[in-house]
Amino acid sequence: MKARRKPKLAVWKFASCDGCQLTLLDCEDELLAVADVVEIANFPEASREVARGPYDLSLVEGSITTPHDAERIRTIRKQSKFLVSIGACATAGGIQALRNFRNVREFLSIVYARPDYIDTLPHSTPIADHVFVDFELRGCPISKVQLVELISAFLGNRKPNISSHSVCVE
Ligand code: SF4
Repeated sequence: MKARRKPKLAVWKFASCDGCQLTLLDCEDELLAVADVVEIANFPEASREVARGPYDLSLVEGSITTPHDAERIRTIRKQSKFLVSIGACATAGGIQALRNFRNVREFLSIVYARPDYIDTLPHSTPIADHVFVDFELRGCPISKVQLVELISAFLGNRKPNISSHSVCVE
């Protein structure tokens, strides 16, 4: 009998501190249980290997800050059945969105010796400003309990039982 294909879970990083990916790594016990039924196709914080799409569930950390980011998130969206943005960077632009209130060129000239080498966008924007997002999991970092519920729900084809996804956890 042909073995059933495992759903593919992929994690993607944009401009961020990796803290939300660390929350996922911290779900060690829960991930071990999930690993039997899911193929972890991409998880930059844990492995450099990237399995080809399509992906059943993409979790996206970080905001869009470069033209390359904007192009990459569109490609990821096309390859993903469900796409969920995780954390304040991905859902609201993050601390890096402070640049949205100033001229980013001014910052570049202060920070970099050769600002002309830096290809950046004037604003840091959430994922939903660029592609359709199936769900937003907020927090900085995200809640481990909510993340486990979210993964189980999407892979089980049901709505996540997350009453308030606007949280700030310690
Ligand atoms: Fe880090 Fe917070 Fe952004 Fe998550 S939301 S990547 S914890 S800064």
